[in-house]
Amino acid sequence: MYNAKAYSAASATSPLASDTIPRRDPTEHDVQIEILFCGICHSDLHSVRNEWSDFMSTTYPIVPGHEMVGRVTKVGSAVTKYKPGDLAAIGCMVDSDGTCPHCKDGLEQFCSNLTLTYNSPDKHKTAPVTYGGYSDSIVADERFVLRVPSNLELAGVAPLLCAGITTYSPLRHWGVTKGKKVGVVGLGGLGHMGVKFARAFDAHVVVFTTSPDKTEDALRLGADEVVVSRNADEMQKHADSFDFILDTVSAKHDINAYLNLLGRDGNITLVGAPEKPLDIAAFSLIMARRSLSGSSIGGIAETQEMLDFCGEHNITADVEVIPIQKVNEAYDRLLKSDVKYRFVIDMASLKSE
Ligand code: NAP
Ligand code: ZN
Repeated sequence: MYNAKAYSAASATSPLASDTIPRRDPTEHDVQIEILFCGICHSDLHSVRNEWSDFMSTTYPIVPGHEMVGRVTKVGSAVTKYKPGDLAAIGCMVDSDGTCPHCKDGLEQFCSNLTLTYNSPDKHKTAPVTYGGYSDSIVADERFVLRVPSNLELAGVAPLLCAGITTYSPLRHWGVTKGKKVGVVGLGGLGHMGVKFARAFDAHVVVFTTSPDKTEDALRLGADEVVVSRNADEMQKHADSFDFILDTVSAKHDINAYLNLLGRDGNITLVGAPEKPLDIAAFSLIMARRSLSGSSIGGIAETQEMLDFCGEHNITADVEVIPIQKVNEAYDRLLKSDVKYRFVIDMASLKSE
């Protein structure tokens, strides 16, 4: 075991603060990574503040962060895919049983024995729960380590590990291609990646936002049209017309307003995970045989496919890089939708702690 530097929160109402955490020495299948950049996902904020307590309660202290990119510093004796000096990345998962039907199908995110990158029971017993990427290093099984295309700017790669795969996977699953009309609700970390991917897949992309001042950005990011969702007339113009809508909103909102925009057999997929349940009017679904579903990140193979796709198409997140000392301020701004479009922590700033 060794000590790593990190930022942790001691309770749901405490700010994140400098801390020292235990990490295991790499065992034979493990890779140790020096973390260079870590994105700030809205899930970090939900978790730190225990907003999902009905579903997964937070164990304190919590070290959040599941959008990491860095360099390999050490590998175990049985590791074949990585060597010291390689670029490498870790997303939302660090282990699964590898034997269940989901794991066999490459959908580790649905494994009932999944170990999330933070706030999951630690099978190695290094600590009560796993600790995430707001830290200077991490150790994980090589099966959960991803390769990073060498042509991309690293700070912009970090958010691909959650915001990227969480939007890429449902767009692929629901067959978003040329000729499809696709909506993206909420232009935040996830939403702006959804727009980039839907554009890269050649769909007709419509962004729904509550922030009129994001209109120009939405068009620059690849939207064909932008609708300010508080404007009922603008919404009505799109009634019954969408093949697919990706809902990335982090807070309770009226989903019926979007269900009514789907055409026959249209689907809306929730990736946003508001603290409170959403209300669904039965008629929003019954009329036009619409469906509502959800999606959780993506499997490891698909995450690698997404990273390679980003390498080929030069896709990264639009980021605001901050030192870790500004993380609490960043959380406050995230809640006000005041970020373009993902905060990323430069982990070099942790050296001075
Ligand atoms: P984010 O950067 O804060 O973006 C959320 C966006 O939702 C905001 O930018 C805003 O967009 C819109 N929004 C916020 N509050 C709203 C409200 N009260 N009414 C309507 N719109 C509102 O968050 P994120 O990191 O993209 O994460 C989004 C959600 O996805 C979070 O709940 C997160 O936990 C969840 N998530 C799920 C998965 C998964 O696997 N399913 C993975 C990662 C994250 P506009 O300003 O454009 O309106
Ligand atoms: Zn996330």
